[in-house]
Amino acid sequence: MKRNLLLTPGPTQIPPRICAALGKPIIHHRTPEFQSNIKEAIEGLQYVFQTKNDVYMLASSGTGAMEAAVANLVGPGDKALTVQGGKFGERWTELCKAYQAEAEVISIEWGTAVKAEQIKKALEENKDVKAVFVTLNETSTGVVTDIKAIAEVVQKTDAVLVVDAISGLGVVDLKMDDWGVDIVVSGSQKGFMLPPGLSFIAVNEKAYKLVETCNNPRYYFDLRKAKKAFQKSDTAFTPAIGIIIALNEALKMFKEDGLENLFKHYERLAQGTRAAAKALKLELLASEDCQSNALTSIKMPESVDGVKLVKLMRDTYGITIAGGQADLKGKIIRIAHMGCVDEYDILAGISCLEKVLKELGYDFPIGAGVAAAQKIFNQ
Ligand SMILES: *Cc1c(COP(=O)(O)O)cnc(C)c1O
Repeated sequence: MKRNLLLTPGPTQIPPRICAALGKPIIHHRTPEFQSNIKEAIEGLQYVFQTKNDVYMLASSGTGAMEAAVANLVGPGDKALTVQGGKFGERWTELCKAYQAEAEVISIEWGTAVKAEQIKKALEENKDVKAVFVTLNETSTGVVTDIKAIAEVVQKTDAVLVVDAISGLGVVDLKMDDWGVDIVVSGSQKGFMLPPGLSFIAVNEKAYKLVETCNNPRYYFDLRKAKKAFQKSDTAFTPAIGIIIALNEALKMFKEDGLENLFKHYERLAQGTRAAAKALKLELLASEDCQSNALTSIKMPESVDGVKLVKLMRDTYGITIAGGQADLKGKIIRIAHMGCVDEYDILAGISCLEKVLKELGYDFPIGAGVAAAQKIFNQ
């Protein structure tokens, strides 16, 4: 039987402890037993979100929490600021348009990060912006954004700062309260090492004021309903019971490791992966100053079809990495090092990448990538 190693930016691998928790018989959600599960989950989520604010759990994939943010903040006649430097930044613009808000878009080259200066300028030119939507880790390009600097700018205005941390949370640092981020959204199937189907949205007081004055029609994703239930350690609708029980196992793992140690662990994995790419004479898509520790996006040489490479690695050797999206299809590959991934998973991935690159006719000294990564991991 073939192995199935996932080095993808969602879903990520599920550790055995969490698989075991997922295998438990279902319990009813309107019970004291489940209520204590919710309390435990909220307390653990607040640790990972680095916040004392409410964190609501929704039964949806991550995009549901993004939609909840937009639906509760901006509607017809409202102005929003979005940043497009990848597929997920574009999703914010599309959501704003779906709710008939006017999106002021900062377009940046894919592979670069927006600068706080650009946000500052856009907010000065558009004083009526009600909400700014950005992405912590742009999963389509492997770029990390300096949220701290952006929060410093947005905090001085009336606008609310919303961060898509779906692929970044628990992998790279995001201090919601210390930095002054108003809304953070995330999802279960990336850094949290869970199946998809559970999303999170943390909301501070400044953001909640806007939620209360927003006139949009909304029902399932109404954050006023979410807050009311939250105050009773409950959820407004049937929650993703099984995933929440498994979430508590994941949260225990976060606490055992410690957030700071996790960030360092992912940084090492990223450094090893980047060193391997360099040794294979491959270029990275993300600029030097904004390379994410959650995943590495690597440009393919002219002669190599990225789609074919990903398919060969998966179908022949059982190692799944991601290809490029939209215009980058076939042109890049993405190796994720988020969630339950260690040095030996990365070495297996690089070794397999080398094998397939050779098969596709790309010339380099075999073993160079693995050696470069090993060197970092042995430091
Ligand atoms: C995966 C991802 C999403 C989408 O989440 P879904 O769970 O697929 O809805 C949004 N933003 C970022 C940055 C992501 O990585």
